[in-house]
Amino acid sequence: MITITDKTKCCGCGACFNICPKHCITMQADAEGFLYPSVDKQNCVNCGLCEKVCPVLHVPSLTNLPQAYAAKHISDEIKLKSSSGGMFTALAEYILARGGVVFGAGFDKNWNVCHQYAETIDDLDRLRRSKYVQSDIGHTFEQAKNFLILGREVLFTGTPCQIAGLKNYLGKDYANLLTADIICHATPSPNVWQKFLTQNFTVSQIRAINFREKHFDWTHFYLSFLMPHALCAHGNVQTINEKIFFHIRAAAAAAAVIYRNCFLKAFLQELINRPSCHVCQFKGQKRAADFTLGDLWGKWDRLITNEDRRYGISALLVNSTKGRQVLSKIKAISITPVDLEQVARFNSALRTSTKAHPRRKEFFSLYDKTPLKILIPRLLGEKPLVIQIPLSFMRKVCSKLYRLLLHK
Ligand SMILES: Cc1cc2nc3c(=O)[nH]c(=O)nc-3n(C[C@H](O)[C@H](O)[C@H](O)COP(=O)(O)OP(=O)(O)OC[C@H]3O[C@@H](n4cnc5c(N)ncnc54)[C@H](O)[C@@H]3O)c2cc1C
Ligand code: SF4
Ligand code: SF4
Ligand code: SF4
Repeated sequence: MITITDKTKCCGCGACFNICPKHCITMQADAEGFLYPSVDKQNCVNCGLCEKVCPVLHVPSLTNLPQAYAAKHISDEIKLKSSSGGMFTALAEYILARGGVVFGAGFDKNWNVCHQYAETIDDLDRLRRSKYVQSDIGHTFEQAKNFLILGREVLFTGTPCQIAGLKNYLGKDYANLLTADIICHATPSPNVWQKFLTQNFTVSQIRAINFREKHFDWTHFYLSFLMPHALCAHGNVQTINEKIFFHIRAAAAAAAVIYRNCFLKAFLQELINRPSCHVCQFKGQKRAADFTLGDLWGKWDRLITNEDRRYGISALLVNSTKGRQVLSKIKAISITPVDLEQVARFNSALRTSTKAHPRRKEFFSLYDKTPLKILIPRLLGEKPLVIQIPLSFMRKVCSKLYRLLLHK
């Protein structure tokens, strides 16, 4: 029977929860908001299946080195709707056109992130775009298995640990299964995400959320909220198309106020991520999924155009023979082979985990009592916003004056 004594040894993939024949495992959130299995010992029959499928206890042994590509969907509209170059949509369109089912991470009605499936193109948008929060896998391994047994083609997408968990859960190769994982930095706490939402908005009024809003450009990670009359805790705000924007740096941009995205900062600086992400066993160039999807970062001479910086471009790793066969049949994409080492050089999340922030523990002991917009900057050692904004404003004014004087 599975027992979690060291939280770094459970990635929350839910394979044990999905496999238990007695349904005596529930996934329960700890004080940080991450899900862990909890066993009802009365009903457990000690069959050992939960341990057998755990991808942390039984890491898949992998041999294949992938072929790497710079890749993008040919439709600008799809790329604008996606986080990188829209390769997830290209794979999903291929599977849906063949009558298949696509699994991935979407939002529920309260904007929690959870795995779900789509069977039509119209329904696919729910799964598009990165949600930088740990996704609850729910019963989706079981649902995917049922579709596979019925002979439907299935595309299952998620973090590398979720794909490793799915593969262990299934226990054998299915010809009709295609998998894609993401280059995964780490996953933040669902509880912190909910706090961020409730401290900024009336959650029921949010109509859409985009962690990789491309209104301004692709490279700068804008988070946007679509709201009726652009309401948020700061009152009625000046926005574009009823969207409220957040960015790592607060600023005033063309026709919009941009709020400080303390959530993204805390994610990237390892303050709010799952403990297992800091010792992740699923990083590296050898992957369990058929495909790996990420952003194409780095210097690539003329390979990345200004248009790509605007619309996004993917790093695509093709990890298996099945992946290569499928790729050769997908027409709506543009791909260029690139050096895998170079992809990994500029995208450290592909290679290695990052240590937890030294004040992570302190954060979780205080996050129930202190607003995030105060707590996060304080623990990350930042200057208060009231000082930052005038400073950046003064810098802008000075540089404008300087340029004016030069042209006189
Ligand atoms: C938590 C997280 C961390 C990431 N870290 C990096 C990184 O460090 N470097 C990098 O290059 N890329 C990273 N990515 C991947 C990147 O942001 C894009 O998701 C990826 O490139 C696919 O983009 P796309 O344009 O092909 O498709 P999109 O339509 O943008 O992506 C949708 C895909 O992402 C999956 N997805 C979305 N949110 C989640 C989630 N919470 N859990 C599991 N799967 C999810 C969906 O199931 C679907 O497969 C990360 C993504 C997530 C969710
Ligand atoms: S040992 Fe078997 S019955 Fe017990 S929790 Fe694990 S899977 Fe369920
Ligand atoms: S890693 Fe997955 S299978 Fe292993 S204990 Fe955690 S949730 Fe269960
Ligand atoms: S960093 Fe590793 S453990 Fe964390 S979500 Fe990603 S794949 Fe899973």
